[in-house]
Amino acid sequence: MNDDNSDKGQLRREIIALSLADSWEEAKREWGLSHVEYRDEGYCLCGKRIKERCYITNRKNNNTTHVGNECIKHFDGAIAHAEHTKEIFKLVKKIDKSVYHHPGVRAVATAYAAGCLSLADIQFLAGKEKRRHLSPSQMRWMRDINNRIIRGLMANPDKYIPDRRKT
Ligand SMILES: [Zn+2]
Repeated sequence: MNDDNSDKGQLRREIIALSLADSWEEAKREWGLSHVEYRDEGYCLCGKRIKERCYITNRKNNNTTHVGNECIKHFDGAIAHAEHTKEIFKLVKKIDKSVYHHPGVRAVATAYAAGCLSLADIQFLAGKEKRRHLSPSQMRWMRDINNRIIRGLMANPDKYIPDRRKT
């Protein structure tokens, strides 16, 4: 059984191999978060099975790869917005389970900032936070909004507005 340090060691070696720099301290600063995706199968660079993929791009040589939402934290803060990926996956799962309900203000704000919602969507959502009963056409609209929000959250982790109450 690998301990945490050897997983970290493998992650570092793989990242260095994909970077221009040949030291971890420099290599980790070449990378930025591009988007996140959920896939049933796959592995992190550390060798662990993962479903929640965080895609990262190297700014110097344009290499891309993905790591899990735990390993992205091993970049010691060098990757901006990495601390949000876990919360984004949690929120995406929650919205996916109740697509006919209001997705919550943080999700709406992120998706609007990412350009995934129109003003008409925002007006539609206003006042529907507590409402449980929607007409069939309103339900379809709500589901459509939620699907766009899920895509918007995963495509734009940099626009995510974190839940400050948790910190
Ligand atoms: Zn990993």
